[in-house]
Amino acid sequence: MRLSKIRLAGFKSFVDPTTVQFPSNLVGILGPNGCGKSNVIDAVRWVMGESAASRLRGDSMADVIFSGSAARKPVGQASVELVFDNGEGRLGGQWASFAEIAVRRLVNRDGSSQYFLNGSRCRRRDITDLFLGTGLGPRSYAIIEQGMISRVIEARADELRGFFEEAAGISRYKERRRETETR
Ligand code: ATP
Ligand code: MG
Repeated sequence: MRLSKIRLAGFKSFVDPTTVQFPSNLVGILGPNGCGKSNVIDAVRWVMGESAASRLRGDSMADVIFSGSAARKPVGQASVELVFDNGEGRLGGQWASFAEIAVRRLVNRDGSSQYFLNGSRCRRRDITDLFLGTGLGPRSYAIIEQGMISRVIEARADELRGFFEEAAGISRYKERRRETETR
């Protein structure tokens, strides 16, 4: 499964609707300091359900909304949509027949978020559920950020096991069991 494009509007420095295309398996994003490269990665993590503002380099969730510049007024909401190519049917179940899967998150200034799967409103949980065990997700290894390699190398045995369980696709079932046991 491959991320094929990201549509951003009102998210951090991307005030105007912007589509970032990922046409092949290897794409580099280049630009001067402060042009918004890391904001693109923050956008991916945010849509996946990241709920800690600090992990998105902000103090509160509303910090992801464009806060204005010398030339532009702030806006009221931020929206990001990730479009995945599911041509190989990697996402199974009810999603197997969808060639494309679009995951969207929208947030307003009051901090309330809405999530959408292929245009239909859903819960945050539906998004995290969808990607659990695929290696994607807000804190998964699909995004290797600064310091992560050393975190893996220095991980305790149980933390390391978490990475292997995600890669093997069993974290999904462990999460379900944990939920059942705590109910
Ligand atoms: P570097 O090469 O230094 O890592 P970068 O290209 O990764 O830079 P980012 O950190 O993605 O840059 O972008 C930082 C820019 O985004 C700053 O100019 C900052 O003002 C702007 N920015 C971040 N949040 C918001 C927001 N909520 N509203 C408006 N602009 C924002
Ligand atoms: Mg950066």
